Amino acid sequence: MQTLILKSGRERSLINRHPWVFSGAVKELPQAQNGEIIRVVDNHNNLLGFGFFSTNSQITCRVFEFTNEEILINADFWVNKILSAYHLRKQLIDFSHTNIFRLLHAEGDFLPGVIIDIYATVAVVQILIRGTENIKENIFDALRQIGFKHIYVKTKSNTQRLEDVTTPCGWVGEPCEMPVEATENGIKFLVDVETGQKTGFFIDQRESRKLLGEFSKNKKVLNTFSYSGGFSLYALEGGATLVHSVDSSKDAIEMCERNVKLNYPATTNHESFVADVFDYLKNTEVDYDVMVLDPPAFAKNSRAVANAARGYKNLNLIAFKKIKPGGMIFTFSCSQHIDRDLFRKIVFSAAADAKRNVRVIRQLTQPDDHPINIFHPEGEYLKGLMLYVE
Ligand code: SAH
Repeated sequence: MQTLILKSGRERSLINRHPWVFSGAVKELPQAQNGEIIRVVDNHNNLLGFGFFSTNSQITCRVFEFTNEEILINADFWVNKILSAYHLRKQLIDFSHTNIFRLLHAEGDFLPGVIIDIYATVAVVQILIRGTENIKENIFDALRQIGFKHIYVKTKSNTQRLEDVTTPCGWVGEPCEMPVEATENGIKFLVDVETGQKTGFFIDQRESRKLLGEFSKNKKVLNTFSYSGGFSLYALEGGATLVHSVDSSKDAIEMCERNVKLNYPATTNHESFVADVFDYLKNTEVDYDVMVLDPPAFAKNSRAVANAARGYKNLNLIAFKKIKPGGMIFTFSCSQHIDRDLFRKIVFSAAADAKRNVRVIRQLTQPDDHPINIFHPEGEYLKGLMLYVE
């Protein structure tokens, strides 16, 4: 196995178990191919761990095991990593009510470069780097062992992390007819893993959707950036008298309508709109009691932070101006590059401009099945605030 040698003094972050080795920390590159598993040592040749080598990323190596002992990295090693992630999910999720969950959350489960999302009998494997592409058969074996009948590989990533992964999107073995029907907290959702955004659904909002449902009784709810209606369904379930879903994607709104019909075939309380959220909010004359603001990541990289901050501020400002006195706003940012403090400052400044009294009722984050590796704070990407607006 080839070895990467760090510059003197650059071992600190690895001793602190941060999984990324940046190119600037490297004294001597390994004689390895892109994606190969390599040893990482400090300047005195002390072993620090093992990781996936990258030839075409600022992150030269993504460490998946911190150890000072030589270990055997074979099929069982990978299968065990996935089984252990599944074992944790069994403790976190009540499978009798929820069969939509994230089985493996990359660095959050000590396996960089891969995400596995589950929709009933379907496992969607998002392969983000060559290193995990090389071990994909072991990943599929683990999923078959657990009992997932259908495996779909998703390599078209809209994250910037995609590195020359050559596996095309598609089914491994037996395909499943799309969309698949799956359940979250007892609510049914149709998910199309082939054509949907991300792996087909935004699993990371499960807890916040549930919370919204608890505050929806007899309320008029506006769900902006609704995608396939996640928050809208919980609002209906919670007893909202009116729910409006807004998304610019026609496909998303179609799926949203199907999801409403699937759960509430007779309801007249829901209406959806294919529209730009900013336009919709500016023009609406409905006096909503509750608003959900869950936009896509405005900052895709650190250079985009200033622009993104303006986008978030503008969005929150319009919502503050429009919401009914005594209303609730659930506002989110899923940009990894906008941290919790900055997001709060942005929302603060929108509230000040709108001249409304605003209280933080609850701080929101990603759910249990999206664990944050304590050594890798970058993994905490989703933040939200539940606000009471006077
Ligand atoms: N809250 C959703 C997930 C939102 S994902 C859930 O719980 O499932 C972000 C969504 O915003 C996507 O569906 C995308 O189509 C939509 N979108 C992006 N920009 C938009 C805009 N300017 N106006 C309306 N929708 C937009």
